[in-house]
Amino acid sequence: MSKRDYYEVLGVSRNATEAEIKKAYRQMALKYHPDKNPGDKAAEEKFKEAAEAYEVLSNTEKRQRYNQFGHGSFGGGSSNGHGMNMEDIFSNFGDIFGGHNPFESFFGGGSTRTGRQRQTKRGSNLRVKVKLTLKEIAHGIEKKLKVNKQINCNTCGGTGAEGGSSFHTCPTCKGSGYIRQVTNTILGQMQTTNTCPTCHGSGQTIINKCQSCNGEGTQYGEEIITIQIPPGVAEGMQMNVSGKGNAAGKNGIPGDLIVVIEEIEDKELKRDGNNLLFELYISIPDAALGANAEIPTVDGKAKIKIEPGTQPGKVLRLKGKGLPEVNSGHRGDLLININVWTPQNLTPEEKKTIEKFRTSDNFKPKPTKNEKSFFEKMRDYFQ
Ligand SMILES: [Zn+2]
Ligand SMILES: [Zn+2]
Repeated sequence: MSKRDYYEVLGVSRNATEAEIKKAYRQMALKYHPDKNPGDKAAEEKFKEAAEAYEVLSNTEKRQRYNQFGHGSFGGGSSNGHGMNMEDIFSNFGDIFGGHNPFESFFGGGSTRTGRQRQTKRGSNLRVKVKLTLKEIAHGIEKKLKVNKQINCNTCGGTGAEGGSSFHTCPTCKGSGYIRQVTNTILGQMQTTNTCPTCHGSGQTIINKCQSCNGEGTQYGEEIITIQIPPGVAEGMQMNVSGKGNAAGKNGIPGDLIVVIEEIEDKELKRDGNNLLFELYISIPDAALGANAEIPTVDGKAKIKIEPGTQPGKVLRLKGKGLPEVNSGHRGDLLININVWTPQNLTPEEKKTIEKFRTSDNFKPKPTKNEKSFFEKMRDYFQ
């Protein structure tokens, strides 16, 4: 389908001034405005066509390009064209109507067409913190949270009405939830649709307000909420529990409960992403002669073997003994950094025994060429 010339669409000459173009578009927009032509597809097309023409001709750069290359210069992927939706038109060109934008109220005060539907009250969101140990993080956990919040009124069950059936149709809007108003604008009279101020869009009013909640439908109370925390979460992560925030009352939608994860620092295991780090201290005899050691893990104790002649600074890796990744479930490793403890208090007898080793050639330090440097170890450690 070939497009009409933009100047022709707006009914202006090719050397029309900016003001003339703006004026022409105003007139077109008003004439073909959907609120004036409800259900008229042809008018809607004209309305869009005018907006498209205005989008190009009101912009100096686009207008120059159009003058030079015609419609072809805006082919494919361009934001303009008949694909332009009504909301774009209103949000882009609403200001053409000056200080008062009749389209704002046209949409029932909202920015989208869905604003025309009955507005439902929504409760506010709530944030709660949950403290978790590394073990709980490793395996995931079910938590029961005691939350103080707005709940539905116990007396009226959230309706806000006394006796349960004291509703009648809103006299202001006759039950539609909306009222139509005629507003005077610089364009002349515009019919607009607004949410009914009496019933706030519900279409009903209460004859006798519930005494307990004064007709609000909510009261302050406590709710026990059970949540499932997946394995692998980390400090600062948030979980959204839909509909478990503050109640809205009067058949409104409750807000969400936002659960913020806090990690309780573990005394033994340090977290580094999905890896866990543990500092193991062994004695000089254990390092020299070899030994078994017990390591704390998130799955309980694990036994490891210390080889005879183990040097301090050696890092052992227990594969898959770290924390799971929250999405994939893939588990990190547990890294064990070996420290050798040098005794600081010795009995005279112990001193005498160790003194014998001072001259032994076997006790003289002999760093081998294969020994990794401190920096190399650090690099491996954090890989
Ligand atoms: Zn009540
Ligand atoms: Zn009403």
